[in-house]
Amino acid sequence: MNEELIEKWNKNIRIIKGEEKEDCVHCGTNWYVIHHKDGLCHECQAIGAPGRSILRRREKWRNFFRDTFLLIIITGSIAFMIISIIG
Ligand SMILES: [Zn+2]
Repeated sequence: MNEELIEKWNKNIRIIKGEEKEDCVHCGTNWYVIHHKDGLCHECQAIGAPGRSILRRREKWRNFFRDTFLLIIITGSIAFMIISIIG
């Protein structure tokens, strides 16, 4: 077994034992993973902050719109250049 595998194994053990900590995705409070829900601490769950899965979905849509926008701009620029050259 290599060191990476051993570290992964140890991390899983810590999660199972409830000893592993992580930062809350909303407020950044470092707390035990076992008490987190979708990456959120108790307070952020209570105020209804968006969890990890929602943030990931938002990120996906944001990237999709950004890529689509860039594609339109690039395609438009190329079309414009071709039209300019052909004239
Ligand atoms: Zn929080």
